[in-house]
Parts: sequence; structure tokens; C-alpha cells
Amino acid sequence: MIVIMKTDATKSDVEAVKEKICALGFKANEVPGVNRIGIVITGNKSPVNPELFLNMSGVLEAISISKPFKLVSREVKQENTIIKLGNHMIGGKELAIIAGPCSVESREQIIEIGEILSSFGIKFMRGGAYKPRTSPYSFQGLKEEALLYLMEVRERTGMKIVTEVKDVSTLQLVAKAVDVIQIGARNMQNFALLEAAGSIKKPVLLKRGISATIEELLMAAEYIVSNGNYEVILCERGIRTFETYTRNTLDLNAIPIIKRLSHLPIVVDPSHGIGIWDGVASMSMAAIAGGADGLIIEVHQNPESALSDGYQSLKPERFKHLLLKLRKLAEVVDRSLNINLD
Ligand code: PEP
Ligand code: MN
Repeated sequence: MIVIMKTDATKSDVEAVKEKICALGFKANEVPGVNRIGIVITGNKSPVNPELFLNMSGVLEAISISKPFKLVSREVKQENTIIKLGNHMIGGKELAIIAGPCSVESREQIIEIGEILSSFGIKFMRGGAYKPRTSPYSFQGLKEEALLYLMEVRERTGMKIVTEVKDVSTLQLVAKAVDVIQIGARNMQNFALLEAAGSIKKPVLLKRGISATIEELLMAAEYIVSNGNYEVILCERGIRTFETYTRNTLDLNAIPIIKRLSHLPIVVDPSHGIGIWDGVASMSMAAIAGGADGLIIEVHQNPESALSDGYQSLKPERFKHLLLKLRKLAEVVDRSLNINLD
């Protein structure tokens, strides 16, 4: 249930509602960044009687929430959530393009690609430090060393850094080093990690699990938000289907459905979605045309020798070409893309 306060409700009216919720043994969650104050009740095992709140001072209405996910739902917050990182935003009118290699492979590699991307006007760089690999014999990432290189790129270029965190034990370290924490598809239902990510003060990019439904993705986001971190960016990265010509099946249906169900921003990962570099541009355009708030794209200066996901990585020149097309497309969908290319 959400208790909606009148616009002229006082601070003490709000406090009284919260106290009543706590006295009933439930949790009171004030949803931030909304025009009207809404207090969402969680922790109740059965419906709460709205009459308990309706005659309290400052209360406008008390509405039950029909969905199993509550805090991430549009029912509790109509406005889109916009995540601000310095001067940059994810979820606003400006498209958020996150680009970079699958893995940080060396200092030289990440600085070189970082400078190329920054020269294009890219504001968010990705690069894996801790890599979740299917085989234990594959490259596992440079770990702490990679974090230092990523911080150096941020220092040199001002780009915000997105990197994956694989487990609870490295969460604090990674959160301290970078700007956005990525929780990967394989960890989408690592509930201990989701809960821990709820108590950090950095935005979380949460990727859809390999076989997860949209509802499971939203419930995973609910774990993070219900633990106190409202800055979650959802990511559609393709799901496993019977199709074998592509690495995954990019579920673009998820964009309008998530936009209807949730106020959180959604970005699309066409690189993992299709798994073939030659298809990345088409899927990027399709995602933006479909209403995505941004893209996360793998770009590598020498994909043939990449230590992970080279086959789906774009060379900088091709990525540049894609950005030029995306800038034109952005206008059509009433968005913008600020890049340094002519
Ligand atoms: C990645 O972004 O490199 C990655 C491992 O993604 P996912 O978790 O979507 O497979
Ligand atoms: Mn990858």
C-alpha cells in the first residue's frame, strides 16, 4: 500500500504516518524525488486496511499496490527516475551511452580506448575488472589492478566508470573505486549481493538474468531499492531462447513493458544481446527507437586479440559511425545525443 500525503501536509504529519506504519510492525519507505510525498508500506504479509490512515492529518489517500514489486513500480512514482552523476544523467532526455571493452586487459589498452572514447564525447566508460566467465580457465580479469587503471582513465578524461562487481566481498572496494556498479546477468538473483548493493551510495546497473522474466528483473531491482538504494538502472542484455544463430535473443519487448511497469531507467546491451559485432548497430538503433534510455556497448581497439567478447566488440571507427546515426535517430524519438563528432 502507498499512503499519499496532501501537498500541504506538514513534516510532523508525515512522521506520524511513518510511526503508525512502524508501530504496526511494517516498514515505511518514503519514495524520493516525487512531487507528492508517498509512503510505501512493505513487510506486510496481508493487505493493510486503508482506514487506518485515511483520517490522519495530512493524508490524501491510501491505495493498495497491485504488483509484487512496489518501490520500483510506476504505481508509487509516476515520474521517471533520473540518475545524476556529476553533470551527466541516465534516464533524462539525453541518451546515456556507456562504451568500452568487455575487460580491462592492460593499462595501455584501457587508457588508449578511454582516450578514443572520450574524444568522441562519450561520458560513461565500461570495462570489466572482475569477470564472471563460463570457464574457470578463461581470463578472469585483472581485478584490483584493473580498478586502478579505470580510476586513471577517469582522472585523465572525466568519464564516469561502470564496472561489474562479482561478489559481496569485493563490493565495497569496487564501489569506492568506480561511479556505477554493474551487477551482471549471472548474479541477478544473488540476493545477498542485491541486498548489499542496496546499502551503497553508488548507482547500480542491474542486468537481466540469462533466463529471467521481466518480473524477476523488477523483483531483483526491488531488493536493491528496498534496502535503501533508489539509484538502479535496469539493463536488457538478451535472454536465452531456442535460437542458436545469435548468442542471446535481445528482448526489445522489455523496453515498453518496463517503461509501463517501472519508473527506473532502462538501457540496452546490444553487444551481449546479439553477440555478433555486425549486428550491434542494428540492435542499438532498434533499442533507441524502442524507447531505451541508453546503451551499453562493447568497443575494443583490436577485437581480434581481445581477451573476452572480441567477436561482439565494435572497432572505434565503426562505433563512431554508429554514434552519428544514433544522434540523428535521437531527434526522431525526442531525445538528444551530445557527442563531439561531425
Ligand atoms: C559484461 O557486461 O561483460 C557481461 C559479463 O555481461 P552479462 O552479465 O550481461 O553477461
Ligand atoms: Mn562482455
